[in-house]
Amino acid sequence: MQLPELVNTFGHSIQKRFGHKVHKLTINANFTCPNRDGVKGRGGCSFCNNASFNPNTTQKIDIEKQLKSGSKVVVKRTGAKKYIAYFQAYTNTYADVSSLDELYQSVLERENVIGISVGTRPDCLPIEVMELLQKYRDAGHFVCLELGLQSANNKTLENVNRGHDFNDYLQAIAKVRKYNIDICTHLIVGLPGENPEESLITLNKVLDAGVNGLKLHPLHVVKNTTLAKQWQNNKYTPLDIKDYVNVAAEMIRNTPAEIVFHRITGTAKRDILLAPEWCSKKWIVLNRIAENLHQFGAQGHNTNSPFRGK
Ligand code: SF4
Repeated sequence: MQLPELVNTFGHSIQKRFGHKVHKLTINANFTCPNRDGVKGRGGCSFCNNASFNPNTTQKIDIEKQLKSGSKVVVKRTGAKKYIAYFQAYTNTYADVSSLDELYQSVLERENVIGISVGTRPDCLPIEVMELLQKYRDAGHFVCLELGLQSANNKTLENVNRGHDFNDYLQAIAKVRKYNIDICTHLIVGLPGENPEESLITLNKVLDAGVNGLKLHPLHVVKNTTLAKQWQNNKYTPLDIKDYVNVAAEMIRNTPAEIVFHRITGTAKRDILLAPEWCSKKWIVLNRIAENLHQFGAQGHNTNSPFRGK
């Protein structure tokens, strides 16, 4: 069985919604992050090197150019001719509202861009920004907030220097709900000190709070991060592929069928990835998750005992 028959993937759900293929185009709009500049914290999250998340970091600011080159690649690879501009790198609501309006509008005005996905932190959602996003949604654009949470365990959040706690996330969800904006929450599997059960606890708390979509990601060690130093000093051991596949599949099985998975694994650029090496083999990971789901139950088919295929 193919993955879309086992998981409610973003690609298929958006195609159903719009009647044609839609692809996200990643944008780096040259933001920074309050967990780096001292407003919330310094140094950022222990695993964060934004080059690992964003393929366009060498093409800063020229958004027109980023969209053009991104769409060229996507149309060739997937045939999608409509796009969602995904503001990914750093904290994409971290600016005054008039600059944000100018930036988001400049993208929404482009032909073939049907909406925006905005990556941000739970503690960086002022009311004015919510009103702005609501305005775009009311005008008929697709709008989604991608909230980095990573874990619902406050000890873990402190340990990785997130600079916010789970209560900040709950407050953010309550606020976003009032504006009826879609939420996709990002979760990391394999955080320091967390076992597989912890990932399921986080999942259940996030589902209880209410969410439209999820992104799952194995924790990977990339260069120039605190985590890289911990790994080099044997203070952090990454998950092996088998454990990640088992946990990710179990999380998917425990998620209701209507929740959309924007991603079920993640990779980093080879030049900065230190470990685990399997992270770079996205298709192997995806195929193994599909095998597990096929064998033990697909999304929404939780049939009791966790971590099958262990
Ligand atoms: S909140 Fe996001 S951008 Fe900021 S340091 Fe953490 S991972 Fe990096």
